[in-house]
Amino acid sequence: MNNFFSNNTTPLASQYDNLKNNYEKIFIEAAESIRREVNAFKPENPCEKCSVKECKIEKKDVFTPFPPICAYRDWQLQILTFLAGDYRQKLKAVYKNMMDKKNEYTCNKCAACCKLATSEYSYEQLKQRASRGDKFSRDFVSVFVPYETEEDAKNANPEFFKLINDIIRDEKVYYYYCPKLKDNLCSDYDNRPDICKNFPHNPLKLIPSTCAFNAWKEEISHDAMLLKAKVDIIDFYKGKLQ
Ligand code: SF4
Ligand code: SF4
Repeated sequence: MNNFFSNNTTPLASQYDNLKNNYEKIFIEAAESIRREVNAFKPENPCEKCSVKECKIEKKDVFTPFPPICAYRDWQLQILTFLAGDYRQKLKAVYKNMMDKKNEYTCNKCAACCKLATSEYSYEQLKQRASRGDKFSRDFVSVFVPYETEEDAKNANPEFFKLINDIIRDEKVYYYYCPKLKDNLCSDYDNRPDICKNFPHNPLKLIPSTCAFNAWKEEISHDAMLLKAKVDIIDFYKGKLQ
């Protein structure tokens, strides 16, 4: 099976570009799928029974502003309930299936995830988040420490460092490593936190080319992008319909 990020014939950045270019198509696919779902319970000709005689609304679209007594307004409120309830549960099940699929792949112990981890947060910010109860941050600061210089981070994995910098151009990135890695092996394996056990935690996260889970990412990349698009679109619906 081709490995999305570790396919030696295509540079990592080009592979990421392919993924980005596909996202537009997938976003449209997601939008159409949600539109079909919400149109399935659109009322049929409620205007025939409506008492408002002077109604001038011609376009009965999902985002049309309807008055409170209108049956189409009821439909919009039903959409909000549906998207926050049954539909959300459906997406959660899809996400769980995707994450469960990861169990079909096995870590190859390349140690790349221990040598170079990134965060949008500084070490101080992570410690603050950890003290406020954020589990991910707590796990993170329990093992990772910051690189002293970006050069040190770059030397840990030049290819991955370049990919991160090529793609995340406008955001600050902080670089970390785990001092528990000794001779390329975890020296505290039995006590490693969940962030180590569950890496990679997000199917859309950039991971090093040597990571065995690239094959998993490749297998589920379409579904992961479709899911991300649907989550973004639901937020858009919520913003427009509330
Ligand atoms: S605790 Fe072990 S598995 Fe986790 S980052 Fe450190 S060396 Fe890697
Ligand atoms: S980068 Fe992937 S394959 Fe390598 S040690 Fe980490 S989880 Fe395992």
